[in-house]
Amino acid sequence: MESIVDQPCPLCNSDAGLKMIALTTEIPYFGEHTQITLVCDNCGWKQTDFIAAEGKVGGIWSIKIDSVDKMNTRIVRSSSGTIRIVDLDLEVEPGASASGYITNIEGVINRFEDSIGIILRQAKTDEEFETIQKCNELLKKLMKMKNGELQCTIEIIDPRGHSQILDDDAVFSQISDN
Ligand SMILES: [Zn+2]
Repeated sequence: MESIVDQPCPLCNSDAGLKMIALTTEIPYFGEHTQITLVCDNCGWKQTDFIAAEGKVGGIWSIKIDSVDKMNTRIVRSSSGTIRIVDLDLEVEPGASASGYITNIEGVINRFEDSIGIILRQAKTDEEFETIQKCNELLKKLMKMKNGELQCTIEIIDPRGHSQILDDDAVFSQISDN
């Protein structure tokens, strides 16, 4: 399904309208969901998100990573999902125009590595020695996790319930709304 959304492009401000492509498919464990992509034909800006079918409640998905096999566990991260590596106190919060994506645990760790790599490249002066040391320490630990040498718990917190860890060992707990 393709339609035009009467909304200016957040990148180039073109008011020609954004193209919206909606695709409904079935993901194992996740069930039916709709993938929505917004595209600006003027500058190429693109945003993808996942909307789960009805019956989803907000909550926290959690999984213990204790073997290399778990690197293949798939994750659906909607734009409203925050991913955390609990043990390292690292988290990626949804940004203002965050895109949703489907990845696996290894892909999640890669994204954390990339973010730390950016901080590391920006911290070059001697005054930032501590930052550099901390980044290198984190990168070492992330590498160990990927090799299955360091156990950790990964969580995805999504108040809208559109994100999920697709694994039999993943545990869901509902967010209480009081
Ligand atoms: Zn644009």
